[in-house]
Amino acid sequence: ALKRYADLRELPATARCGTRINLMMNAGLMADLPSLVGSGAEGVGLFRTELQFLIRSHVPRRGELASIYARVLDSANGLPVIFRTLDIGSDKVLPYMKPQDEPNPAMGWRAIRVGLDKRGVLRMQLQAFIRAAAGRPLHVMFPFIAEMSEFEEARRALLLEMAREQRLGHEMPSDIRVGAMLETPSLAFAPRKFFEMCDFISIGGNDLKQFFFAADRENERVRRRYDTLDTSFLSLIEQIVNRCAEADTPLSFCGEDAGRPIEALTLAALGLRRLSMRPASIGPVKHLIRRTDLGQLRQVIDEARSAGATNLRPAVAEWLATQQE
Ligand code: PEP
Ligand code: MG
Repeated sequence: ALKRYADLRELPATARCGTRINLMMNAGLMADLPSLVGSGAEGVGLFRTELQFLIRSHVPRRGELASIYARVLDSANGLPVIFRTLDIGSDKVLPYMKPQDEPNPAMGWRAIRVGLDKRGVLRMQLQAFIRAAAGRPLHVMFPFIAEMSEFEEARRALLLEMAREQRLGHEMPSDIRVGAMLETPSLAFAPRKFFEMCDFISIGGNDLKQFFFAADRENERVRRRYDTLDTSFLSLIEQIVNRCAEADTPLSFCGEDAGRPIEALTLAALGLRRLSMRPASIGPVKHLIRRTDLGQLRQVIDEARSAGATNLRPAVAEWLATQQE
């Protein structure tokens, strides 16, 4: 199987119906970057920046971060890298941060909420991104945006740092794209202006699902009750696909489900054109996409929904079994 996936490395993830799916990888350490070549990923769809903060006993300095991010861009060798600003909260406490005593840390003071309330670390990280990307394209993504005003504020913070860096005489990135993670159901109902304002949006399926079903993603007992192929959850995904399409905003999906074969195919059939996953999943997902007619799968899904299915897994799995013979 490994050899088979290696043979696929240079081939595009084009489905039988001709639809091109963009497969990217998730990363978080320099050590992940060699997988970019090995896996055939078309870029890093999610670079989680938490680890550089977690492995140190002090706040990393701007220069340290800038040189790490620059090396990430070097190893990506021109392929896009989407850097996500720090998603830290009281569940992932930094050794040098005062622990917050919160009853529900996943819904607490985390991610962009911390960044907007305490600007120092956010500003330093934005400066590091800008310096690392001198002369090259920069993609910045803000995590855990729950309403439009948070994205506006975060985006404004980035624009301010760009103006400042320029005044200081630093070479600017050649292009800057600013995006939001959609991982709270509320954001799917944001005004149209929000979707137009984002250069791109990425669905954080792990958190989106946790908050859609009100089921802790860390709690096996409740997590397993709810399936990603539940038709209600997929209606939400479809609504997000439609809203992004109306605003002409590129949409990706970067939760763990992007790397699971049946989930990935279903997401692609519902209109997702970019999936970001762990590197080891790229070969298997690409293999399956290349053998699938997504238009036909879409029909299977629509028929199952019209027939009143509350979960699409049986219909999708059954159809796939007839295809793979
Ligand atoms: C997600 O929530 O789906 C996501 C990609 O972010 P994380 O897993 O880092 O919360
Ligand atoms: Mg998340």
